[in-house]
Amino acid sequence: MVSTPLYLPIRTLLHLTVCALLFLIAGLRSAPAQSPADIGLSIHERAYLDHKKILRVCVDPSRLPFDGVDEAGNHDGLSKDVFDILARMLNVTMVVPQVDDWDDLMKKAKSRACDVVSQINANDERREFLDFTTPYFYLPLAVVTRYDRIFVEESLQGSGVKFAVIKDDIAIDKLRKKYPDIDLVEVKNNIEAMQMVHDGDVFGYIGAQGAVAFAIQKLDLNKLAVTGSLPLRYELSIASRNDEPYLGSALEKAVRAIDPKEAQSIRDKWIAITIQEVTDHTLIWQLLVVLGTVLMVSLFWNNRLSSANRKIRETLTQLHAAQHQLEDQNKVLQRQSVTDSLSGLYNRLKLDKDIAQEIKRAERSNTPFSLILLDIDHFKQINDTHGHLIGDDVLKEFAALLQSQTRSSDILGRWGGEEFLLLCPDCPLDGAKTRAEDLRTTIAAHTFAHIGPLTASFGVATYHPGEHPNALLKRADLALYRAKEKGRNCVDCS
Ligand code: GH3
Ligand code: MG
Ligand code: MG
Repeated sequence: MVSTPLYLPIRTLLHLTVCALLFLIAGLRSAPAQSPADIGLSIHERAYLDHKKILRVCVDPSRLPFDGVDEAGNHDGLSKDVFDILARMLNVTMVVPQVDDWDDLMKKAKSRACDVVSQINANDERREFLDFTTPYFYLPLAVVTRYDRIFVEESLQGSGVKFAVIKDDIAIDKLRKKYPDIDLVEVKNNIEAMQMVHDGDVFGYIGAQGAVAFAIQKLDLNKLAVTGSLPLRYELSIASRNDEPYLGSALEKAVRAIDPKEAQSIRDKWIAITIQEVTDHTLIWQLLVVLGTVLMVSLFWNNRLSSANRKIRETLTQLHAAQHQLEDQNKVLQRQSVTDSLSGLYNRLKLDKDIAQEIKRAERSNTPFSLILLDIDHFKQINDTHGHLIGDDVLKEFAALLQSQTRSSDILGRWGGEEFLLLCPDCPLDGAKTRAEDLRTTIAAHTFAHIGPLTASFGVATYHPGEHPNALLKRADLALYRAKEKGRNCVDCS
């Protein structure tokens, strides 16, 4: 394949690069941070260590992650990393004798079965058989409670709240000094302490911050948590047998020579514990209940409001419909109020109003208008001969015939019985007389259903300025009367 020659050199190059990097890292890691010459040991100290070669380091087996032994009995924890550095600095081998517990460790230290104690707080009693280096590790005191409790420092002031501490723990003195009324219950180890917290026998357990958190995780006590820290700390030194003083001074020089950056990275490696933020779940539940209630109430009201809105909309629609119906009814009523029900023409009420209106207009514009009053001749005979219903039909047909002959500007209405009135605006007497004559001939020429021909008589009057409407009507009526007198089927003027 064409690509093979290219592929191999790239892979080789990559391998070489990785190997070089690994070599560099391994070199950096294996290079001693400090060599024996760096720390300024005296000739006597050097000679002492060269002669000693092996240091027996007693380790508390139960203080991981700070101090402890693994299952094979080898040194473990933070102090192990520190002692690796010290062993290189001092050019000695460290061995870890079997230690059962803290009491056993103290016994062995006293009996010189150990040369060094890996991590210990200094006190006067211990100074009788041990030398102490400057503390190389500080550890705040932490409080373990059930995860749902809230720790406040005031509870250490003798308010009847009990706290467990490990028997003979150096912290006891520090606590009693700072909180004289503190109620401490001394227990054998941190497992017992945690159990008591778990069972509610004590409120909390006070121990080394990282150690207690480590134990909680290790023991899987998920109901417990570190819920507070105190302004007190363990100051952990390395102790050495005080009957071999060069050992103590050499260790002091070595501890002081530890590179602070390296010390920090060891701490970071072993202590990655933070104090748990304790949440007051009661408050959360209360808030949830309040929020839930608010939500329910607003949903309820929202529902009520939307159904009320719906009802309002429905009612408004009904109101609008009713309003339209009323308007229609009003129009009908209005129409009915001016209409004669039999003939469908305007009624006398409307005619009276229109005459009054026309008089005003004539007065304003000084133009004439006329009235034509007409009456069917011998109508009584029709009723008598054909019956009242036929008489009604004749009245309707007569009205329709008049309507068909009426101009749009004219106003036609039924004056009463078999009498009709035509109001001719802007029309002088001659014009009105001609209109009446035309109507008379049309009527006389018409053949009515059931009865055949009939005639009508006409009285015409033109408005005289300043005249009362009754006077005008009276003149028209007199003219009509004269037309009847003349033998009917004719027009008379006034
Ligand atoms: P004239 O030529 O003198 O006017 O004689 P006429 O018979 O027409 O007059 P008259 O006043 O004696 O009679 C009018 C009749 O019209 C009497 C009345 O019963 C009838 N009439 C009035 N209104 C109505 C109506 O609405 N329907 C019917 N069928 N007849 C009506
Ligand atoms: Mg009449
Ligand atoms: Mg008549």
